[in-house]
Amino acid sequence: MTDLRLFNSLTRQVEPFQPVHPGEARVYTCGPTVYNYPHIGNMRAYVFADVLGRTLSFNGYKLTHVINITDVGHLTDDADAGEDKMEKMAAQRAQSIWDIARHYTEAYWADIKALNIRQPAQWTIATEFVPQMIEFAQSIADKHCYELDSGLYFDVSTVADYGRLARAQTEEGEGRIEAVEGKRNAADFAIWRKTPPGEKRQMEWDSPWGRGAPGWHLECSVMSGQVLGFPFDIHTGGIDHREIHHPNEIAQNQAFCCTNGLDVPANSGARIWMHNNFLVERSGKMSKSSGEFLRLQLLIDKGYHPLAYRMLCLQAHYRSELEFSWEGLGAALVRLKRLVLAVANLRGQAAAPAAAPGARFAPYLERFAAAVADDLNTPVALTVLEEVAALKKVDAGEKLAALAALDAVLGLDLLALDRAVLRIRPKAATITEDEIEAALAARKAARAEKDFARSDALRDELAARGVEVMDGDPLGWEWKLG
Ligand code: AMP
Ligand code: ZN
Repeated sequence: MTDLRLFNSLTRQVEPFQPVHPGEARVYTCGPTVYNYPHIGNMRAYVFADVLGRTLSFNGYKLTHVINITDVGHLTDDADAGEDKMEKMAAQRAQSIWDIARHYTEAYWADIKALNIRQPAQWTIATEFVPQMIEFAQSIADKHCYELDSGLYFDVSTVADYGRLARAQTEEGEGRIEAVEGKRNAADFAIWRKTPPGEKRQMEWDSPWGRGAPGWHLECSVMSGQVLGFPFDIHTGGIDHREIHHPNEIAQNQAFCCTNGLDVPANSGARIWMHNNFLVERSGKMSKSSGEFLRLQLLIDKGYHPLAYRMLCLQAHYRSELEFSWEGLGAALVRLKRLVLAVANLRGQAAAPAAAPGARFAPYLERFAAAVADDLNTPVALTVLEEVAALKKVDAGEKLAALAALDAVLGLDLLALDRAVLRIRPKAATITEDEIEAALAARKAARAEKDFARSDALRDELAARGVEVMDGDPLGWEWKLG
């Protein structure tokens, strides 16, 4: 098997993957802040992490994947400005934070399932790690932190080479960080935020620095280190985290790993830091906070199966920006349907996949393995999968086995998906499935009587109501989307 090579944001280079623990791969993924529904851009980050995990498994590593749920501490600005996103939403809704967190965590998990993202070994919930966060902060406080009225701050000048991950400590970059009275360096950040005197927060804990809540960056350092142990192999997140969140995690990890004055950059907690690029709308950046945002449920409401979105993600390399459009999503759905149809045809020829694909498939499997091992080149891997699906004069059972092996990495669920399941009723549809079937039966009768004018009229009526008649296709009809 080809050696796995991954792009490390720390070095900005593609590097061979060399596990910390032989035969194992330990991966931490920054999870969602559960103050709102995730948008499909957020979900791109988890599709990417899932493909990474599946690729590591495919390459024979025993995978331990951890994804966190941030239910406290993430401010409306990634730096230190603004309010806690969770507190803000709870106040707006007049609901308890815990109810908000539960609701949106469940919504997120539903999207994870719908996108066929594998369950990680552990979901770490930030509020369940607060004592460990306090302990971690205590261990670095003397050498690396200072206290202000508003909290305990990390002094970024106490670690070597702060911000090298971001490579963008520009005047402009730092200017974005809202000044906090008394901060020593513009990039210093709160690792513990004190509840202001006279205020009561829904979520607060006692600490050596007073009642308050942990900082968002502290959470990920603690959860990743606790569950996976420093150093672990790979830390992932969206590209925005390369600028503030991850440099701050790295600074804390350096401080924590080397309390003996040896805060060398190599102690960044994870050996490899990987970042997916953004899904963008034509109008620009996607945002949960602006108007109607693109949720997975919106796609489903419009008749697009969630796995069409997974296909859309796979068609682009994770490090490329991906522009969302309904046409693009429609094309991805068609591509997925073709594959599902190919599998259905094979199922008609073979009862079950063979135990293994034979020698005829070996060159394809090799090319596929090489593509994913090349920093997760899913666009190329997909085309190899399609070549396999199109192979003629091969054993159907073996072909099914080959497709199953490749889909174990891409996760399109090809062997379980049914074409009828991909046909999702758009919410806006005004015609029932029974009415459609009745019109199709009437059309069949008209054709039997050679009344082609009537048959065409029926087809046009269906088309006007958003239904496409597909003669010769066992499914018979399809919703017209977009
Ligand atoms: P958040 O819930 O805001 O912490 O974001 C969850 C994940 O989604 C993080 O890894 C972000 O970096 C990532 N993310 C946010 N917006 C986008 C986007 N438009 N495209 C891809 N990933 C994103
Ligand atoms: Zn994080």
